[in-house]
Amino acid sequence: MTARFPLMIPLEEARTYVLDRCTRRAATFTPVSDALGLVTAAEVIAEEAIPPFANTAMDGFAVRSFDVTTVPVQLRIIETIAAGYGPKLVVGAGEASRIMTGAPIPEGADAVVMVEKTSVTGDVVTIEVAVEEGNHIRPAGDDVAIGQMVFAASTVLTAGHLGVLCSLGMNEIETYPRLRVGVMSTGDELVDDGGHLGPGQIRDSNRRTLISLLTADGFVAIDLGLVPDEEEAIESALLQGADHCDAIVTSGGVSMGDFDYVKAVLDSVGDMRWMQIAIKPAKPLAFGTIGHTPVFGLPGNPVSSMVSYELFARPGLRAMMGFPEPIRTTIQGVAAEPLVRHRDGKTHYSRVSASYKDGRILVRSVTGQGSHMLTSMARSNALAVLPNGDGCDEGDVVDILLLN
Ligand code: AMP
Ligand code: MG
Repeated sequence: MTARFPLMIPLEEARTYVLDRCTRRAATFTPVSDALGLVTAAEVIAEEAIPPFANTAMDGFAVRSFDVTTVPVQLRIIETIAAGYGPKLVVGAGEASRIMTGAPIPEGADAVVMVEKTSVTGDVVTIEVAVEEGNHIRPAGDDVAIGQMVFAASTVLTAGHLGVLCSLGMNEIETYPRLRVGVMSTGDELVDDGGHLGPGQIRDSNRRTLISLLTADGFVAIDLGLVPDEEEAIESALLQGADHCDAIVTSGGVSMGDFDYVKAVLDSVGDMRWMQIAIKPAKPLAFGTIGHTPVFGLPGNPVSSMVSYELFARPGLRAMMGFPEPIRTTIQGVAAEPLVRHRDGKTHYSRVSASYKDGRILVRSVTGQGSHMLTSMARSNALAVLPNGDGCDEGDVVDILLLN
C-alpha cells in the first residue's frame, strides 16, 4: 500500500531509487549495421591492421628514394598501379611506377613523389623534387595494429566507431541490446482518431511526444496504445507490455484524482513506489517493476510527462542499455534576463531557450510555463534548474540541461 500523502522527496533520492532498479541488460552480439548509439560490452581487439598494407597517400610515382637525391632526374615508367590492384613489377634502379592514392606500394620502391612535382614524356617521368624514404607512404597498421585494443568496454558507438569496425572487417559487435520500450497513454478523456472532439475530450499528445523522445534517444519505442481509466484495461495493457518490452512508460493516472488507476494497478501487479518529488513540473511519479520490467508511471500533464521522462525515465533506460553516464550533464549558462519563480520548496525545471553567443550560453525564458502548455516545450531547447527561491537575475550563472 502507498501512503495517500507521501512527503515530497528530493530529486536525487527519487532518481537513485529508479536507477537502483534499472539494471543493465545482458550483452549480445549486434550487427554493426544496427549498432549506432549502442554501448560496447567488451573491449574490441583488432584482428586486422588498418591500413592492411603499405599504400600511397598521393597520386604520383613510386620511386627508390636513393634514385631521386639529385634532381631533376629521369626515371623509366614500368607500370601503372590503380587502387584495388596489386603491383606486378619490382621497381628497380632508374625506374618508377605510376601509382594512384590508396594503391599498394610496389616492391623496390620506398617513397612516392606527388604527380604535381613530375612531368611525363612517353614512358619517362621527370622527377623535380628530392624525397626521403617513406615520403607519402602510409605503412601497414599505421592507424591500428593487429592485436591492438581499439575500443574499451562501455564505449558509446558513434559513426566514427562503426567506420573503424567496418575497416576491421567486423560484422558484429558485443553490446548491450537496444531497449524495447512500450508507451501507453491513459485517460478516458483522450482520443487519437483525429475526429470531432466530444464533450470533455482532448487529443492524446503524450504518446507521440514520448515515442519521439525514446526514438531520438536511441530506444525502440513500441506503441501500446490508448488505455481508458479502468483498472482491468490498465492491468492487462501493463501485463501484456511487460511480456513484450524491456521497460514501459505510461502517462497519466498517477496523481491524486479519483480515477488515477495506474498507480493502484502497479501496486497490485508489481512492486511499486509512488513518489511526490520536490520538483516542478513533474511532481508525481509512480515507478515500479512488473517481474524484471521497469515501469515508469509519468504524470499526464504534457510538459510534466516530458520533464519526468528527462529526469527519470531517460536515465533509467540509458542505465539499462549500459550507458556509462545515464544522466544528462548539467552545464552552465548565463541568464540573459531575470528568470523569475516563487518559493514553494521545489526545484523548478523551467523551459528556456539557450543560445550560444560570444563564448557564453545565454538563457532566456519562453512564455507559457504551465505544465499543460506544451508549446513552451516545443519552443525551448533546454531546462533551467532553478533551486527553491526567487529565481535569478540577469547576468547570473544558471544551471541548464541542454535538451537538443
Ligand atoms: P492525469 O495525470 O491523468 O491526472 O492528467 C493530468 C492532465 O494531463 C489532465 O489535464 C489530462 O487531461 C492531461 N493528459 C493526460 N494524459 C494526456 C495525454 N496523453 N495527452 C494530453 N494530455 C493528457
Ligand atoms: Mg488521467
